[in-house]
Amino acid sequence: MRVFQHTISGPLHFSGVGLHTGAVTSATILPADPDSGIVFRRTDTGSVIPATVECVAGTAYATVLSAGGAKISTVEHFLAALYGMEIDNAVVEVDGPELPILDGSALEVSRAIASGGLAQQNVRRQFLRVWENGKIRRNGSMVAISPAVDLEILVTVDFPASAIGRQWAKFTLTPENFLKEIAPARTFILREQIDELREAGLAKGGSLDNAIVVEGDKVHNTEGLRFPNEFARHKLLDFLGDIALLGRPVRGSILAVRPGHTVNRAITEYLASTGYSSFPELPVSPGKVPVHIQVTA
Ligand SMILES: [Zn+2]
Repeated sequence: MRVFQHTISGPLHFSGVGLHTGAVTSATILPADPDSGIVFRRTDTGSVIPATVECVAGTAYATVLSAGGAKISTVEHFLAALYGMEIDNAVVEVDGPELPILDGSALEVSRAIASGGLAQQNVRRQFLRVWENGKIRRNGSMVAISPAVDLEILVTVDFPASAIGRQWAKFTLTPENFLKEIAPARTFILREQIDELREAGLAKGGSLDNAIVVEGDKVHNTEGLRFPNEFARHKLLDFLGDIALLGRPVRGSILAVRPGHTVNRAITEYLASTGYSSFPELPVSPGKVPVHIQVTA
């Protein structure tokens, strides 16, 4: 993992339909100062919404952030791309209430970051280190954490639809691994959920161009899957988008069984309460929290 903070070298532009609003929106990622983190700025209202755990306003069908009465929705794939590509500081300008869904993955954003280039900043990253084993369960989901030098994640999913079934994805965070293994994995939906979402006024922009549609043993997208375990990989992508709200690179090993936003949020809040360290070279000592470097996050 990089020791120094990074931002992007120059502006990156994206445009496309919002998954839930169905409206075409534009987003621009801009470089930002050290220690400023990831911040969303609505250009239509002038409001500023930081990507932090405290600003999470909802996670039902998309991650919604809110600050000062302003909201921004469906931020998770942009956040996963920034976290996966190890961008510490950036401003994401959006001209509406929702980020464009693009192809339902984080590929376009991650590729743009990789080809646009990164700028190293002269300030150390503040790592959030897992110091002891922990486990959280919520509604049939479980996330277990343990100390590790890198960020290692193993995700398992289990769906009755046999096109998904039981599958898993494993990943150690480097920008190269993220770009190749995780960023291309698209979001997915069960055919029977579509009507329910539409009736709730959601998924107006959803189509086979931005989601995998599954029905029993069938995948409706004519191009098929990008990976045999694309579903587990996308759950891993979503998990990264959720822990990105910590605003710090995590060093730890994470096992996520049937993860969803609820359990991801619980583990993120737990990690946020454990403090962080700017000394990544310290040895791991499971079960012992070195009090002298604990700082309130
Ligand atoms: Zn997703």
